[in-house]
Amino acid sequence: GLTTGIVGLPNVGKSTLFNAITQAGAESANYPFCTIDPNVGVVDVPDERLDRLAEIVNPQRIIPTSVQFVDIAGLVKGASQGEGLGNKFLSHIREVDAIIHVVRCFEDENITHVAGKVDPASDIETINLELVLADLESVEKRLERVARQKKSGDKAAIQEHELLTRLQEVLAEGSPARSLDLSDEEKLIIKSLNLLTLKKMLYAANVGEAEVADPEQNPYVQIVKQIAAKEGADVVTVSAQVEAEIAELDAEERKAFLAELGLETSGLDRLINAAYRLLGLITYFTAGEKEVRAWTIREGTKAPQAAGVIHTDFERGFIRAEVISYTDLIRVGSLAHAREKGLLRLEGKDYVVQDGDIITFRFNV
Ligand code: GDP
Repeated sequence: GLTTGIVGLPNVGKSTLFNAITQAGAESANYPFCTIDPNVGVVDVPDERLDRLAEIVNPQRIIPTSVQFVDIAGLVKGASQGEGLGNKFLSHIREVDAIIHVVRCFEDENITHVAGKVDPASDIETINLELVLADLESVEKRLERVARQKKSGDKAAIQEHELLTRLQEVLAEGSPARSLDLSDEEKLIIKSLNLLTLKKMLYAANVGEAEVADPEQNPYVQIVKQIAAKEGADVVTVSAQVEAEIAELDAEERKAFLAELGLETSGLDRLINAAYRLLGLITYFTAGEKEVRAWTIREGTKAPQAAGVIHTDFERGFIRAEVISYTDLIRVGSLAHAREKGLLRLEGKDYVVQDGDIITFRFNV
């Protein structure tokens, strides 16, 4: 599956947040690997459409879809130069599909800040600089090799050299590789470099317990938002501490506690949804008497490949998909009505599945 890595300086609340994620965690029996690797947590993607569908279909069970998080501790100033866990840490980030950058926005005299004071702008710069420097090193190493190949007049090498040189310039200025706006072809050329600053990133501003109801009042949050806006990145405000407390409650207690705090959804839910969007994921549903279930695909996936998420046989033997949008189904109230009104579409192998589609696949076994 796709994975989001949680990074940030020490003592900003990463582990607290990660613990909340694993506490709230999906049925671990479905995900045997998370009991093996303590740094991997799998959580259900909250989606109220599932409950609405269940009211219509009355299934025996409801199965949400999930996303995976990895806690990546150990990033400190100088990591790209081998400080702390250094390169080992950076190699963990190379494996993730997207990054959540946790920034400390809470004041607490009892909790040491590595740089001596709460200062989100400086924290963000420190982390981002380490990532940029690590990328600069990868790019320069590759440039050396490509420069030799270029001498023999190899066309691909010339193109790659030009691209790497542009990347080197941007990184040397301290800017992330994603600021270059590369074409798909260019991304493919440098794919094997797994550049850290080419990965999608969002900021999680970790605020104090007292501020969760109105995080905009927190001046540090405003600073994080200004920086994120310049980068075109999203910001989610959470209180890791509060999320850790919420994660221990059952559904009913959770609702009451959130209401008490003046919140509709938990920060964790918002973070999970933001990560899902960041990864470019959408959800389609299957709805039968046995189960109503959400499935995750990348945006732009065609019907046979979407079927393949359920089972490879579904993809191999794909004939067609019977599709209705979530809004149409809710509007008419039942699949039978939808069928009568001709709202169930038959779609072929080129159909691009949309978020919220409810699908029955027809396939050869
Ligand atoms: P990490 O090093 O980034 O993983 O940070 P931790 O999650 O271990 O948190 C460092 C300390 O900050 C712990 O003592 C946490 O209990 C505390 N902490 C985390 N989030 C909050 C918060 O929202 N408010 C306060 N007051 N303390 C927090």
